[in-house]
Amino acid sequence: MQNRLFLSISLIVSFFATGTKSYAEEIRVLVADGPQGAHNFLETTPVLIEILKTQPRFVVTHTRSSEEACKDGSYQPSFADFDVVVMNEGFNAPLWPKATQTAFEKYMAEGGGMVSIHAANNCWPDWVEYNKMTGVGGWGGRNEKSGPYLYMDDEGKIIRDPAPGKGGAHGPAHEFEIKVRQPEHPIMKGLPLVFKHGPDELYDKLRGPAENVTILATAFSSPDQKGTGRHEPALMAISYHKGRVFHTILGHHTSQIQEGSFVTTFLRGTEWAATEKVTIPVPTEFPNQEKSSE
Ligand code: ZN
Repeated sequence: MQNRLFLSISLIVSFFATGTKSYAEEIRVLVADGPQGAHNFLETTPVLIEILKTQPRFVVTHTRSSEEACKDGSYQPSFADFDVVVMNEGFNAPLWPKATQTAFEKYMAEGGGMVSIHAANNCWPDWVEYNKMTGVGGWGGRNEKSGPYLYMDDEGKIIRDPAPGKGGAHGPAHEFEIKVRQPEHPIMKGLPLVFKHGPDELYDKLRGPAENVTILATAFSSPDQKGTGRHEPALMAISYHKGRVFHTILGHHTSQIQEGSFVTTFLRGTEWAATEKVTIPVPTEFPNQEKSSE
């Protein structure tokens, strides 16, 4: 009896030791995508997975929704098995089943991680909690009812503008500068204060609940490129209850997501969303780098 008890205790102890060890070393990443109206997820998802797999700590799994599985309720990824969910969703994506929405809200509220890439802020305008997670979004009928426009003025003051109007726009793809606004944030620490990205779409006029959003970096949306003349949020950190979201507006297609500016911020943002810490270094050959005199 005593031996059996001892064996049980040993098993329990080794179970927890193994559990703790694997958690510390591995970051379990779920990449989620599905049919969508304006972006080629069939081409971008494999590239995103390849980029994630450059990190030995990342263990990557992929889940793909479908119209049918969303309609009949059978699309039910097991979020609890992952440290972070990378959303490569997009405009007009089929709405997740209600039970799956609730499961994802619970996962996030209890401390889960999410990464919103580019068009992942376009989908699901009526899923209230998802819009709190992305903070701001565009298209899909978003307007003043979705929440304020969020941007920075020339002095770096955060503006929440409730003015009526459509949410989400972009001019032609072009090269633009990313300006770091939170250089001490774990994702941004060590990056040049200003760096270039593109040609890519510079999302502007994004609006939404805009609660608990930290604007990590902005991009100036130039009127010369049919932009707003505002410093638009380009990289954001959002807290959702105990959960963390890294939101990047960058990454229209495969060439954009293979750019060093995207790769570095995406990998560091994914690690942060999963663990709250960043250990992935900024490459010394960080591309498009402009040393800022600030
Ligand atoms: Zn796009």
